[in-house]
Amino acid sequence: MNESGSLRIWLIVGSQHLYGPEVIQQVEQHAREIAAGLNAAGSIHLPVCFKRVATTPDDILQFCHEANASPDCVGVICWMHTFSPAKMWINGLKMLQKPLLHLHTQFNRDIPWDTIDMDFMNLNQSAHGDREFGHILARMGKARKVVVGHWQQAQVQQQIDVWCRAAMAWHDWQGARFVRFGDNMRQVAVTEGDKVAAEYQFGFSVNTHGVGDLVAVMASVQPAEVEELCALYEKEYRVQPELQRGGSRHAALQEAARIEIGLRKFLQQGGYKGFTDTFEDLHGLKQLPGIAVQRLMQDGYGFGAEGDWKTAALVRAMKVMATGLPGGNSFMEDYTYHLEPGQEMVLGAHMLEICPSITHQQPSCEIHPLSIGGKTDPVRLVFDAAAGRALNAALMDMGGHFRLLINEVEAILPPQSLPKLPVARAVWKPLPDFQTACAAWLMAGGAHHTCFSQNLQVEHLRDFARIAGMECLVIDQQTRLDRFEQELQMSTLYYAWQSMFRKDG
Ligand code: MN
Repeated sequence: MNESGSLRIWLIVGSQHLYGPEVIQQVEQHAREIAAGLNAAGSIHLPVCFKRVATTPDDILQFCHEANASPDCVGVICWMHTFSPAKMWINGLKMLQKPLLHLHTQFNRDIPWDTIDMDFMNLNQSAHGDREFGHILARMGKARKVVVGHWQQAQVQQQIDVWCRAAMAWHDWQGARFVRFGDNMRQVAVTEGDKVAAEYQFGFSVNTHGVGDLVAVMASVQPAEVEELCALYEKEYRVQPELQRGGSRHAALQEAARIEIGLRKFLQQGGYKGFTDTFEDLHGLKQLPGIAVQRLMQDGYGFGAEGDWKTAALVRAMKVMATGLPGGNSFMEDYTYHLEPGQEMVLGAHMLEICPSITHQQPSCEIHPLSIGGKTDPVRLVFDAAAGRALNAALMDMGGHFRLLINEVEAILPPQSLPKLPVARAVWKPLPDFQTACAAWLMAGGAHHTCFSQNLQVEHLRDFARIAGMECLVIDQQTRLDRFEQELQMSTLYYAWQSMFRKDG
């Protein structure tokens, strides 16, 4: 998935006129060198574009207006090469709506001990220039990521890249559209939520279409298109013999292909970035969409089952964040446990809809009965998720605010083959241990639907949550249940306070 195209990170460098024009020229030259160096290193997903040395309040305000108005600017990096009195920044920062990264760096890595003089000191004073800038950001409660260290360090560039990816996902959400076919699964709580609050806070809209609207698009699908897609299935997957062309159940594969083509057309025509469906509302569909959903997710669409629009939006955001990284991201559900003492693990799956981006295997394309929904047997891809470090993330509406909950896990290959299990699956051991992780997840009200990620770190999601102004709770190797409970209490208080005063950051 690559929709990065013309997107850029903008770099603005703070200074002032106190030191004379030569110093400003020097600052600009250094800033250009830093931007060029970051781009040449190739470690940040988007190009860093140096915009200007800012020296006056008007200049800064103008820059912030330009950043807000630019559809290509996904975020702004600020760095104070010299001192830049921070009252100059107030009006600009008040307006700035793009994600902000405060880079606390210095042009030179080392102090030139033999030659250092006061001219050098006046030029290279981010050590206190950035403190002045940090103060006004803190005073204004402005959400930002702080990255510290020499700009050529791999770790610094990597932190910028992580933030850049979070900013890309935020950019992608602005004006994004998600469609729900039908409403929620009846009586389910966690998949519900305030779609108006979400649109106001996150920038994406969620609207419903009756599944009949999808059925109407499917009716326009031509037999030749269906044949072409069935041939592609047979090329890409190990298709069960009876589903193959000439097989006794080939008609079911054709129906699955018709659903995929119709869904894809519907999403393209509506400009949608993700969707939900529900097995309780499939009027006019012969099968619950299985392989169609799996392949659309692989192409970058967000998905949530049973009307779960929050997870659909989260899956989309995580796929955008992970653009170009090896490994995948999928809609997931904690399904069933292995409770052998000391070897506890979770088997994650869904009725059908797991994204093939998380496997190294060639998926098997199969047809089996589905015990709920009352439709004909659906076609699905079956595989095991790859082993390795991974995480699960869930997005909940807690009533007054949105909560992002993350659990780091160690994914493993299933310890035994699962010959009778007709769905794609992942197996993992949650960190820090099964008991702590599950107890913390339940205490935090975490959803049963998640996005399972093999290539994002907690830091990507922390950065994303900060940009989005949502609560972020993490269950990892360091988690202790007693402290987690306290963190939950404090955090709940903080968000209650924030919603009272509508304070950002
Ligand atoms: Mn479900």
